[in-house]
Amino acid sequence: MNAEGYFREKIVKEDIGEEILSFAAEIYPICRSITGNGVRETLRAIGAHVPLEIHEVPTGTAVFDWVIPQEWNIRGAYIKNERGEKIVDFSRSNLHVMSFSVPVRQHMSLTELKQHVYTLPDQPDLIPYRTSYYAENWAFCMPHRLLESLRDETYEVVIDSHLQDGHLTYGEYLHRGRTEEEFLLSAHVCHPSLANDNCSGVALLTQLAKHMEGMQTRYSYRFLFAPGTIGAITWLARNEQRSQRIKHGLVVSMVGDGGGPTYKKSRRGDARIDRAMAQTLRHSGLAPSILDFSPYGYDERQYCSPGFNLPVGLFQRSRFGTIPHYHTSADNLDFIAPPHLAVSYRLIAEAIEIIENDAIYRNTMPKCEPQLGRRGLYGMIGGDKDAAAANMAMLWILNLSDGMHSLLDIAERANLPFAVIQRTAQILLHKGLLVTSEIAVDEPGVSGDMRP
Ligand code: ZN
Repeated sequence: MNAEGYFREKIVKEDIGEEILSFAAEIYPICRSITGNGVRETLRAIGAHVPLEIHEVPTGTAVFDWVIPQEWNIRGAYIKNERGEKIVDFSRSNLHVMSFSVPVRQHMSLTELKQHVYTLPDQPDLIPYRTSYYAENWAFCMPHRLLESLRDETYEVVIDSHLQDGHLTYGEYLHRGRTEEEFLLSAHVCHPSLANDNCSGVALLTQLAKHMEGMQTRYSYRFLFAPGTIGAITWLARNEQRSQRIKHGLVVSMVGDGGGPTYKKSRRGDARIDRAMAQTLRHSGLAPSILDFSPYGYDERQYCSPGFNLPVGLFQRSRFGTIPHYHTSADNLDFIAPPHLAVSYRLIAEAIEIIENDAIYRNTMPKCEPQLGRRGLYGMIGGDKDAAAANMAMLWILNLSDGMHSLLDIAERANLPFAVIQRTAQILLHKGLLVTSEIAVDEPGVSGDMRP
């Protein structure tokens, strides 16, 4: 990557929102869980866009304090009343069966059945999403209104599922940059038909990986598609050494709705990804929420566990758990839309651009201000408003480019978009007023980690 900010221009296509939605719609119907063929089918679909490396980890393998569970697969499920009508049918919605339900085939009374039914009384028309990964159980999920309409009779209950030794499956793709230092982009692939959580994140990262192919970058980009929690734990257990290469990272989930944007900082709180995301979101013209780390959420919980403490944050639109659609059948394809997906994609691309282009320069004329007018530098960029920002950017860059402050430090201090600082620095470089510092931005203890 050069420092001319072409990353965003190259990577953001005009119809990117439609492209992401179309792939999200393709994987939406698949019945995923933390193990099983749904994950494999999803990874195969991603693999049609980028050369994904697929890993299969056997049931029973120890991964830190956890053990890879059995593999869960399901062919069908239904509840039939005495008239032979299927009142609930898995083929209409895969949310109808609690994920990891053990097989069942029996007749039972309504009272017995009710002990195995989940509903949402406050949202009586929606099907809830439920799982029981680590306790042997079975259940159906249905609209509360449907449950209330059921007569006191005998029901035929069938869940045609299999829980047996097999594998946990995950996929990863590495875009190689100039260095082996990595930027991790991680999405969970364990939810069944839920569009925002997380077909949107999987689809966004797939398209990002695809459009990065062939691009020259400073960092290597690792795209990880793994089941939530156990998948991230498994990856970390098998890549403990390699994980030390991760210098920046984002967990991406729920990026297709119009809320937020929301960024939850890494455990460190002042990692460069935290600052790059905050910088991007603050200048996005949207109403962002920037949250401190908390040990609840998605796979950042594992990446930010104290034994790893990786600089990985969480990017979302609406914050998880705050929207009524969350973990219900209302999180369907109507809930996500191309303009929102496109904005999410652009925000991630902007943060990557900051990470890629942050650099330290040195003012070649640090004794008093250089005479800018003589060099034609006042008001040379864009219209009036842009020119004012560029003038301020010039003054800030010249003042803080003492070989110790990076462009991101300067953008934060000047409260200007990174792109303005970066563009202006290019002009000053061209005019000989700046030179590249001998100190690199990612040297520990210097650069981006040093607050102004
Ligand atoms: Zn979820």
